[in-house]
Amino acid sequence: MPAMRDFFQRRGKFRPEEQADDDRAEHNIPEDLWIKCPGCSELIYSRELERTDRVCPKCAYHFRLRARQRIGQLLDPGSFTEWHASILTEDPLAFADGSGSYEQKLEQTRTKSGESEALIVGRGSIEGQPVAIAVSDFEFLGASMGSVFGEKLVRAIELAEQHREPLLTVSSSGGARMHEGLFSLMQMAKTVSALAQLGRAGMPHIAMLVDPCYGGVTASYATVADVIVAEPGALIGFAGPRVIEQITRQKLPEGFQTAEFLLAHGMIDMIVPRVELRDTLATLLRHYGEQIQAASAARNVPVSSNGHV
Ligand SMILES: [Zn+2]
Repeated sequence: MPAMRDFFQRRGKFRPEEQADDDRAEHNIPEDLWIKCPGCSELIYSRELERTDRVCPKCAYHFRLRARQRIGQLLDPGSFTEWHASILTEDPLAFADGSGSYEQKLEQTRTKSGESEALIVGRGSIEGQPVAIAVSDFEFLGASMGSVFGEKLVRAIELAEQHREPLLTVSSSGGARMHEGLFSLMQMAKTVSALAQLGRAGMPHIAMLVDPCYGGVTASYATVADVIVAEPGALIGFAGPRVIEQITRQKLPEGFQTAEFLLAHGMIDMIVPRVELRDTLATLLRHYGEQIQAASAARNVPVSSNGHV
């Protein structure tokens, strides 16, 4: 029998969202753990979930992936080379809030997540097709875009142009990193102008939006793309639905901000289940690869078979 005070505490299914995210941050999941599916409430054996690339075998709910899991799943085995792993975020505003300083938070996040920043960039191949890739890690401060996130992305865009390879970004994010204030917001303009340059050079940007993708990331580089692909059920938007409802004082339609809703309203190009992602991306890369080869031949720019100049 629960104590009376328990009725007034948020727990179980009434936990606030932030706490649910913290639970997912436990990336060292014991191998014999049972995980409850948020889609169908079935208990799934964690090893089975790893075998299905973290898609529920009962209802096809797509669990979130860490950035390196995503890279491992999308790229050809052993093909990934990381770029700029050693750039570290500084604390330009000496920011602190009630929970401590930004510096302390960064230190704790690095230890907990095993990553140095919220964005991992590099190059690799998908079914032999060369690609530059940038993947955000939601477990690192909600994959918020700060100055180093922006800088790494811009460098990846520039390297994609130099190598004459398509760029693939995989974005899940809470938006701009508030701890860096205006420096964070500036990354929106900086990344988009780098993408414009990539476009002028004739290199495509393929954007994958995965759950959840919000704020300044959705409003900048993540949706400035030649093709926008989303995973089923992914929540994508700028402001959260509660904020919009409070401001507009209107009830939002059913399924608002889901990938399916956005596809129906023309904001994204396709929804691809995780199991088909590699095939779909390889088809897109082959298509664009042929165009890059043809354009390079016409401009007399040498491109080797693996895309390197
Ligand atoms: Zn399920």
